[in-house]
Amino acid sequence: MPGTELFGEEERKEVNDVLETGVLFRYGHDAQRNGHWKTRDFESEVAKFTGAKYAHAVSSGTAAITCALAAAGIGYGDEVICTPYTFMATNEAVMFLGAIPIFAEIDETLCLSAEGIEKALTPNTKAVCLVHMCGAAADLDAIQAVCKKHNLILVEDAGQALGAFYKGKHVGLFGVAGAFSFDFFKIATCGEGGVMITDNEETYKKADTYSDHGHDHIGSNRGMENHPYLGLNYRIGEMNAAVGLAQMRKLDVILKTQKRNKKIIKDALKNIPELTFRHLIDEEGDSCTFVNFFMPTQKKAQVAAADLGANGIGVAYWYTNMYHFINQWDHVHNLSTISKIPVNVLPLPQDYSNLELPKSQDVVGRLISVGVSAKKSAQEVEEMSAKLVSIIKKHV
Ligand SMILES: *Cc1c(COP(=O)(O)O)cnc(C)c1O
Repeated sequence: MPGTELFGEEERKEVNDVLETGVLFRYGHDAQRNGHWKTRDFESEVAKFTGAKYAHAVSSGTAAITCALAAAGIGYGDEVICTPYTFMATNEAVMFLGAIPIFAEIDETLCLSAEGIEKALTPNTKAVCLVHMCGAAADLDAIQAVCKKHNLILVEDAGQALGAFYKGKHVGLFGVAGAFSFDFFKIATCGEGGVMITDNEETYKKADTYSDHGHDHIGSNRGMENHPYLGLNYRIGEMNAAVGLAQMRKLDVILKTQKRNKKIIKDALKNIPELTFRHLIDEEGDSCTFVNFFMPTQKKAQVAAADLGANGIGVAYWYTNMYHFINQWDHVHNLSTISKIPVNVLPLPQDYSNLELPKSQDVVGRLISVGVSAKKSAQEVEEMSAKLVSIIKKHV
């Protein structure tokens, strides 16, 4: 939980600015707010860091990916290639916009592969919702080429990949729009929040209106603007944005420490010849949030992860984790919804209760992820790594 590890004076200061004026709302109230525009400043920091022309902050990462998909024109009945390995929010966003997920294979990049996408295509496929899992980029050159070849819209869920670059360009800028999460568990947090980025003005404007009941935010007569579209409320509040602002200013330090600490862990694990590592197309661009490695078999990975946990080394074993892998998504298998949505009634290209994704099963089955601290000293990480290696060695 890197962002929360560094919560301190700076966050408190930004929040106090808001508390002193009482303007908790991101728009208007110019006279009362004493010059504090935390959401705007937060957005500027994200735009500056990522190099995006536009950044739009909203109430969650789920809201950000929803805005990105909606602004890209994804809606009722559209088939969208999705990944079986992600935090569920990605697929929820697709389904609640009325679109239909098609699950495709990932590979050792931990993300959808170009090959997997191509195999899953139907004549009706409209878009790819690409998730950059565990802090690093997918194989973007190959995936962009597939999207171009088949005329597919690319939207990036970079919920876990703030700080990740691909060949010098920040993730989230390779398709129509990208989304970040700033929830409590991400590299930078604002409690609850998310940011959508894009280089396209039209896409930005659509997301901006969509996330605030269709208000176009032109002029300063709040609530009396024009409403070019129907929308919803996905607004972020100033208190949350204030925390996000302080955290963005720490991102360079977070990344630097994670990079050092990741190297220590990875170098230690390299002494175990039976292990292989996540395929990083651009290792330089990794945000270093996790060290991801593969055990020789699924059984060995499961046993090792349990043993590590029992010895106080918390690792993620996603294969049996409740939220991140398709095997646990009973509500998707059964399409259990509280009220009817389009996936409940439209013809579906796949039987979600009977999907065959052997490559993804193999990859996630053997995968163990070690979270990298943004606070621990090199010595603490060395000690943890030595313990990690001695336990893993018993199970390879
Ligand atoms: C965390 C996450 C989300 C959802 O973000 P929230 O802010 O919790 O709504 C979406 N996609 C991915 C890949 C995530 O990891």
